[in-house]
Amino acid sequence: MKKTIAFFVFLAVLAALGTATQLSESQLVDALKKIYDWPAYEKLVFVTADGQFFVFGSGDPDSVTVRFYEIVKTLARKGQDFGTVTNIVHNHKRGLDFSLPDLVLFEKFKKLGFAGKFQIFYPHSGKLKTLEKGGSR
Ligand SMILES: [Zn+2]
Repeated sequence: MKKTIAFFVFLAVLAALGTATQLSESQLVDALKKIYDWPAYEKLVFVTADGQFFVFGSGDPDSVTVRFYEIVKTLARKGQDFGTVTNIVHNHKRGLDFSLPDLVLFEKFKKLGFAGKFQIFYPHSGKLKTLEKGGSR
């Protein structure tokens, strides 16, 4: 029963944000807080310019298995591609910076046409950290 309620709340959030033309950082953080509130496993979130959120997770608390073709297929079903993605966000625990695998992933996304912000969200504090362009820390 609890799961069902959380699921509907989540859908309502996605629908409301879908009407926004351009998200402010505080709107993005509010949405991320809801996404990372439940369930508590690591998630990879893609936000597109029209305000849609695409959330991927493997159920593992500390990692997300990325399957590029699944991401591309999921985006395409909603008329999106890596060129329309404005933010790619994943979560870290307190104090952990971008890892080497994160930087490798960022380079791969850029090769697929991504030109937006690559970010870490810290659910405990609600802080968002953006990787500087060029791929270095
Ligand atoms: Zn990471």
